[in-house]
Amino acid sequence: MSAMKQEKSCEKISKRTKPATDFSKVGGLSNHIKILRDTIIVPLLHNNVYTHFNIKTPRGVLFYGPPGTGKTLVAGALATEMNKEGFGKVSFYQRKGADVLDKWVGESEKKLRALFETATKNRPSIIFFDELDGLAPIRSAKNDHVHCSIVTTLLALMDGLDSVAGVIVIGATNRIESVDPALRRPGRFDRELYFPLPSTEARKEILQVHMQTWRHKPANTFLSYLAALTTGFCGSDLQALCAEALLCAMKRQYPNIQKCPLGKVKIEASELRIDDNDFIDARKNLIPSSHKLGNRIRKLSPIIAPLLQHQLETILSRIKMLWPHFFMQFYKYLIGSERYIGRVVLVGSSLQGLTAHIVPAILQNLEHLPALFLDATIMQNKNILSNFCKNLPSVLVIPRVDDLWSFLEINEQMYITSLLEDIHAGLPILIVATYEEELPLMVK
Ligand code: ADP
Repeated sequence: MSAMKQEKSCEKISKRTKPATDFSKVGGLSNHIKILRDTIIVPLLHNNVYTHFNIKTPRGVLFYGPPGTGKTLVAGALATEMNKEGFGKVSFYQRKGADVLDKWVGESEKKLRALFETATKNRPSIIFFDELDGLAPIRSAKNDHVHCSIVTTLLALMDGLDSVAGVIVIGATNRIESVDPALRRPGRFDRELYFPLPSTEARKEILQVHMQTWRHKPANTFLSYLAALTTGFCGSDLQALCAEALLCAMKRQYPNIQKCPLGKVKIEASELRIDDNDFIDARKNLIPSSHKLGNRIRKLSPIIAPLLQHQLETILSRIKMLWPHFFMQFYKYLIGSERYIGRVVLVGSSLQGLTAHIVPAILQNLEHLPALFLDATIMQNKNILSNFCKNLPSVLVIPRVDDLWSFLEINEQMYITSLLEDIHAGLPILIVATYEEELPLMVK
């Protein structure tokens, strides 16, 4: 590749992004915003205090959680807020894994170095890596050496930030367990923030954010009803719901728009009114993305509820009695000092809907916690499992453990048993397993 082309690709990667949001456009994440203020904005604003006490300010924060839950939105909003707080101009560099990866050997590392150099030159600045798992996957013998080299470069660059204040690296991923664990050590991504699927209250706030500028807004009671009707919707689903409702309103008030060629019907935007029924129609047209992803977290369906609601409530009340902390959204844990771990084993035939209905409904009640299903597919990549146990607090589900056991090799069985034994009682991990016939002795 010619030198000019190389220069160009490095220049492109170092271009700033202009974030268009601030914290007022983020709904249902007030606790996240508070944490970011404390961990990023305050230390940067009062860097002199930290220097005086010889304490290093945080270098990196890792955002993780399902897609569409506001990770990119919050990173952009953080840059805007920092400008407001009087940092001068905060440069924001948003890159995806694919922007950095290059087919030429050594070129990706060069791009990364160029990006960090520019960010340091223009500091204060934020480098935001979207889809970090694509850029820095777990290094293993199976991975090609290109990825290993990129991860090593990224680690070195982040370590290099130790001597420069004012450059923050934010990484975002939907699959934190696939990110190389070295990046999660102190001094690199110091803090980890989980972005859950929004709760009912958070969904209402997100809807309100998207309607901020509307002249005719739905009534408060209807918004509460709509929030209850949208279980499993993430922030971007709620945005899509508003867009769909607008389309329904246009079709209702201007029935001709579908018949006439584009642009022939003039719509007076200020007179358009989105009714409650438009939202209900829109809701019928949309499937939440969490359901598209496999639907492993959901309420009991109205048909099943009369049969299993009682059992579900009994199980939930037992869990709540023994480990109430799992139900508190922003509970603060004294890791290691207290006993937090929860182990629940549910026994019943698959015909009783244990794995198909009860487990997804338990997870729906704990939707503020990340969950991992330990099934045969996970055994292909054991790192995912051991890495997941570092996400605190979280839920580990082992469905049909007896079936899984008969399928596993003896060394894999030993691996799982030792992993489960190694989880310290002071870690807030809830393990939920189900079985039908007999619990394997080793698991017992
Ligand atoms: P992620 O990075 O987690 O995949 P994004 O931040 O890109 O998700 O979200 C996509 C869009 O969804 C945003 O541009 C925004 O319009 C909407 N959205 C997501 N979460 C929220 C939220 N908490 N409040 C308001 N809008 C949201």
